[in-house]
Amino acid sequence: MIQPPFTEEHEELRASVRGFLDRELAPHAQEWEADEWFPNEVFGKLAGQGLLGLKYPTELGGQGGDYLHEAVLIEELSRIGSGGTAAGIGAHNNIATPPIWKFGTDEQKQRYLAPAIRGEKIGALGITEPDAGSDVASLRTTATRVDGGFLVSGEKTYITNGVRADFIVTAVKTTLEGGHHGISFLIIDRGEGMSSSKLRKLGWNASDTATISFEEVFVGEDCLLGELNEGFKLIMANFQWERLAMALGATGAMALAYERTADYARERTAFGRPISKHQAIRHKLADLATQAYVGRCVTYDALRRFVAGEEPVKEVTMAKLYTQRTAYELMDACLQIHGGAGYMKEYWPERAARDARLGPIGGGSDEIMREILGRLLGL
Ligand SMILES: Cc1cc2nc3c(=O)[nH]c(=O)nc-3n(C[C@H](O)[C@H](O)[C@H](O)COP(=O)(O)OP(=O)(O)OC[C@H]3O[C@@H](n4cnc5c(N)ncnc54)[C@H](O)[C@@H]3O)c2cc1C
Repeated sequence: MIQPPFTEEHEELRASVRGFLDRELAPHAQEWEADEWFPNEVFGKLAGQGLLGLKYPTELGGQGGDYLHEAVLIEELSRIGSGGTAAGIGAHNNIATPPIWKFGTDEQKQRYLAPAIRGEKIGALGITEPDAGSDVASLRTTATRVDGGFLVSGEKTYITNGVRADFIVTAVKTTLEGGHHGISFLIIDRGEGMSSSKLRKLGWNASDTATISFEEVFVGEDCLLGELNEGFKLIMANFQWERLAMALGATGAMALAYERTADYARERTAFGRPISKHQAIRHKLADLATQAYVGRCVTYDALRRFVAGEEPVKEVTMAKLYTQRTAYELMDACLQIHGGAGYMKEYWPERAARDARLGPIGGGSDEIMREILGRLLGL
């Protein structure tokens, strides 16, 4: 058995979260995928259970918990059968609100984080641009100083919650200097001068991934998040939890997919016996169980270190790299074991395989993870 980093209290939370998600979200997974949208009310329902503020302080309406409480929620969300819904909630909880908590002023926390915890305001994180993805430093959205604030012009793309978000934690250039220097963050309210257009995609269909355009949008000085020109620090600080969250999501999804596929293989017969008794399938399932287990081990190790206050960049990067590609390959293998049923929309494997394909791209691609590891390993 892996020594999970969770206490009994975290496991109690898991039981209640699983019950809630099984009742309120999982039954709608298929419908929301077909609609290419999950209702905004989902945020209100989660907030009603305290699930948008697990790690945030009680003074702001949070539950006063820790990252392990949040980790439980992430693992459980990966079981609802809708990568898109989990992604929309994850963008709000794991990447848009944490920088406000860490870098925001008290006033910004009251204005954005507290209503986000109550489910009244939905957040998004806007970093990627049409010409700046992996190479974050080359972003071009500019914020020009004017009386009382900034005028923002430019375009963000592939932004999760990009249509529905009430505020976007946005990376902008505040100097003409190239490179990492001169990036700042602004919290931008949806409003005049902003427009969003939803993008169609392979998976994560229930989520609204969008291009957002800013045309001379006025943003007040009080919306500057963190220090001027020091936004790169914020990006780096955010990445560790985002990547760990992705690893946790993949870990939960792999465990569930293995369990379901093993059950299917025990029941489905071909040539007079359950397909699990054919050695090719039995060995494949043994490999899948091993991959799911290894993924969980590296992820929990990184999580334990992260929660202990280390800066486990190497372990988090390895966990992200290993789990994302592995999850996609595992889902494809599960689809194969389901035969024709695996290819049908009415069963889970085809959606799980499509949803898993994002992992090696988003939150820093496999190649970027290898670049980081190459540096850390002194190569
Ligand atoms: C569904 C979805 C949701 C997303 N949500 C968000 C969001 O909420 N907010 C946000 O800001 N962004 C979001 N993204 C953007 C995501 O983070 C980027 O797509 C990702 O970082 C890759 O950037 P890119 O697409 O510009 O690819 P590019 O950077 O153009 O890379 C193209 C290819 O080149 C490779 N490559 C690039 N540099 C190197 C190198 N140095 N060495 C080797 N290979 C390299 C990449 O790995 C990739 O395979 C989302 C993307 C998707 C698809």
